[in-house]
Amino acid sequence: MPANAFKEFQKIVNDVTLYLKHQRTLGMEVLAPEDTQEMLKILDGLEENFSPKKKTLVCTPGTLDTVREELGECTRCSLSSSRKNIVFGKGNPHASLVFVGEAPGGDEDVAGEPFVGEAGQLLTRIIQSIKLRREDVYICNIIKCRPPKNRDPKSEEIEACFPFLKKQLEVIRPRLICALGKFAAQTLLGTTERISKLRGKIFEFQHIKVVPTFHPASLLRNPEWKREVWQDMQLIQKLLEDNACGL
Ligand code: URA
Repeated sequence: MPANAFKEFQKIVNDVTLYLKHQRTLGMEVLAPEDTQEMLKILDGLEENFSPKKKTLVCTPGTLDTVREELGECTRCSLSSSRKNIVFGKGNPHASLVFVGEAPGGDEDVAGEPFVGEAGQLLTRIIQSIKLRREDVYICNIIKCRPPKNRDPKSEEIEACFPFLKKQLEVIRPRLICALGKFAAQTLLGTTERISKLRGKIFEFQHIKVVPTFHPASLLRNPEWKREVWQDMQLIQKLLEDNACGL
């Protein structure tokens, strides 16, 4: 390799390294598609002269459709034998805010959509309370199939399903996740702490801010918790408005 070409090569590698390091300091573990385009432009220049294999440096999280395709007609756990429909998630694939619930209930199992029952209607009003619409946000659950009689999800069911939620979040890269209820909060945060202790505080999951609050179904049973949920939603609104979510 001629000396000047080698120098050019080194410069490009340095630029790419600096760019990747900068992305990491911004909290990126996976490059967003628009960054990937930038990277490909840089690497195209590199490729012309040197190595077509360098493109493997770039990893893209794909799209929600590719995650859905990978999930397929899932039989990774025994819930597949009792479910009517997989409830993958629904909403804006570019949402700044993602709501994560526990698991589909009976209505969701039939509809194949998250939060369409009574708790879902309350969630719609909660979303509207911060001047957003359901279509603005993305809504999903820790697990994608209804546990029989709405029992708590089992650890093997979460283990089988959670990787797909992670992939969805990698694709969406929201600025903020609202964990609805004990189950979502404990799973995302890897803790057994009570939801009453976790709610209203700011945590992180894979460099994305997480604010837990009470589950809308528990709010239906305990309307006196409305005030706390209202406060938590105010915090979420402020974090979104302040542009203070890190990404
Ligand atoms: N409760 C949940 O946690 N998720 C739903 O989709 C519906 C009810």
